[in-house]
Formats: sequence, structure tokens, C-alpha cells
Amino acid sequence: MRIVFLGPPGAGKGTQAETISKEKNLSHISSGNLLREAVETGTETGIKARDYIEKGLLVPDQIVVDIIKERILKDDCKEGFILDGFPRTLSQAKVLDEMLKKLGNKLDLVFYFAVSKESVVLRLSGRRICSICGANYHVKYVPSSKDGICDKCGGKLYQRADDKLETVLERMRVYHEQTEDLIEYYRKNDILKEIVSDANIETITKNILDIIKSNLKYKPLISFGVI
Ligand code: AMP
Repeated sequence: MRIVFLGPPGAGKGTQAETISKEKNLSHISSGNLLREAVETGTETGIKARDYIEKGLLVPDQIVVDIIKERILKDDCKEGFILDGFPRTLSQAKVLDEMLKKLGNKLDLVFYFAVSKESVVLRLSGRRICSICGANYHVKYVPSSKDGICDKCGGKLYQRADDKLETVLERMRVYHEQTEDLIEYYRKNDILKEIVSDANIETITKNILDIIKSNLKYKPLISFGVI
């Protein structure tokens, strides 16, 4: 299955992508993580992307598209993936459609995570990330058992520089201006499923899994290679 998680920053896309990808054996591709890795390792892409990320702006399409193309062609994506944070512009969405078409595939589902601005600010300002394994926590909603330490690997937790209030507000503005149009784009393609992301984490996971299950049920048998 090829799935996109769409929604504003802090809507819970990353947290759900982590769980659902494990549950359904799909690769979790986060454009934000790929870009941050490139920044940390100091690659040419990372050097170009850094300023945009720090300011809460979108990295130019070509840079992100190249990173995603390379990632999608890897072996672990053959059975499917969850794209988290990509596409974020109409032109990225069109490139993705073209890319999948060339591979003889298409997107199966797009989950739109609807969430209020107040929740976004609360979630992002409390978000903490493990410096080793990248696991997500929240000081109030998903605290680690030991303050500042990851439960999974013992790594130190940190706050992303772009999760500071001023940058969060800028990221929200950019989302409304450049990404929101994608909701209509995918609604027209009839693959959009809306998830109310103000509910608790387990409920949202269950909703997503139920939708994936019913989507599989109604796929024609030919797509399973039965006919
Ligand atoms: P995220 O972790 O998804 O919130 O992304 C963090 C930052 O990476 C964003 O604020 C952008 O600067 C950049 N970024 C991630 N994905 C994209 C994308 N698809 N297009 C452009 N910039 C992106």
C-alpha cells in the first residue's frame, strides 16, 4: 500500500506513521527526518536546506523531490510506504503521481489529519525527540518514564529548534498558504480520508487501521494477483 499522511505540523502524522508502518509492514518515509539527517551529516542537500528549515519555510521542491525519489526506489519500499510530510505543495504532489505512474503504481490512500491551531501549538511546544533513535515524546501527553531520557534506547531527548513558538506559527502560516490546497487535490482523486486528530493516540491509530482494512477489502481481486 502507498499512503500519504497530510496535515499541519504537529497533527500527529509522525507518531501515527511510526506505529502504522510497523503494524502494516510499510516503510515510514518522513521528508523532515530525511532533510534533518542531511543537515546533520552536512551533505550538499543539507547545506542548501538548513536555512529554510530553521526559518520554518518550505525547502525548494527540487531538493525535496530528489531526496524522496531516491528513497522510494529503495528495496524496502517495494511493498509500500507511508509518506509523512511529503508532498507539501501541488507541484510535489504532481511529481509524486508521475513518479508512481512510471513505476506502475499509484497512491492508495491519503489521510488528512484535521487538528485545531491550539492543539498544534500545545503539541509542538511540548514535543521532545530522542537524539539516538528519533522516537517522539511529549512532556505532557507522552512523557518518557525518566525525565529527558528515551524509554526505548536511553538516548537524550531534545526539542527541535523549529518547535519554538515563533517558528511554529510561521510553519502554520506556510502550511495554510502552500499545503492546504492538497486536501482538495486528493479529495477530487477520491482517495482522501479525514482523521480527527484531536482524539487520543490509540483511537486515531484504530481509525486509521480500520480504514486501511476496509480499503483492502474492496480492492478488486486482480490487484492481489488472484485473477
Ligand atoms: P517536518 O518534520 O515534516 O515538520 O519538516 C520539518 C521542515 O523540513 C519543514 O518545516 C520544512 O522546512 C522541511 N520540509 C519537510 N518536508 C518538506 C517538503 N515536503 N517540502 C518542503 N520542505 C519540507
